[in-house]
Amino acid sequence: MKNVSIVTGSGRGIGAAVARQLAAEGHAVAVNFRSDRDAADELIRTIRADGGLALAVQADAADEAQVAQMFALVEQELGPVSALVNNAGITSRMASFMQTAPATIEDVFRTNVYGTMHCCRAAIESFRRSGTKGVIVNVSSVAAATGSPNEYVHYAASKSAVETFTLGLAKELAAEGIRVCAVAPGLTLTDIHTVSGEPDRPARLAPKIPMQRPATPEEIAEPIVWLLSPAASYITGTTLRCGGGL
Ligand code: NAD
Repeated sequence: MKNVSIVTGSGRGIGAAVARQLAAEGHAVAVNFRSDRDAADELIRTIRADGGLALAVQADAADEAQVAQMFALVEQELGPVSALVNNAGITSRMASFMQTAPATIEDVFRTNVYGTMHCCRAAIESFRRSGTKGVIVNVSSVAAATGSPNEYVHYAASKSAVETFTLGLAKELAAEGIRVCAVAPGLTLTDIHTVSGEPDRPARLAPKIPMQRPATPEEIAEPIVWLLSPAASYITGTTLRCGGGL
């Protein structure tokens, strides 16, 4: 049966690298975006030019109704969904906890935690509808293990929630043959650092990384795509830390 994958927030960064690699492996890929249609359309053009099958789907991954519509559209256009990558994630400007507004914290949890949960629910319903033993990979962060003091402890806590959710959900679904894993990237060269107000963060922190450099988005996409593949058929509930030794 054809692999049909949804990658949330995949117009750019790690998600775009995952979408490109999945398409190269023969998956039909739904490139989810919230607002940047141009980036998603450009990615779709690239994937199609390389002979892949891809569809751009607009949805706020944190909005349950929009997520349901996204899954319905993907099933209709590409077929039964077999894989989900919960990549959409946000951070905020770096500050201590007490300098971070409650609304900012809620925003981060809304996408990183509730969005991941809404998309997992929709994916599991979709897998069950078609009888697919699907796979989910949630994107966490090494911040879950460090706490990220004076940077964004709320972001670190949201990713910690993603990892614990991954573990529990994996155990709930294991007997059904549905796998749920997480990948925790370390510092990766994407635009997220511009959003957090420090575009040169990867360069500044590189000396603190045992491997002395940040990851490329492709280096994070590889293990995500591997976890989705049959090569990882006995792995579930696991968070794979990809932090260059961090
Ligand atoms: P990025 O900002 O380049 O890309 C994130 C994408 O998600 C953007 O296209 C954004 O528009 C989209 N998005 C955000 N909220 C969304 C929503 N509610 N619905 C749909 N799309 C939404 O960031 P990235 O670095 O590629 O991050 C991807 C994932 O990796 C995130 O979960 C992030 O927390 C995680 N991560 C990144 C790093 C890093 O250093 N870049 C490190 C650890 C973890």
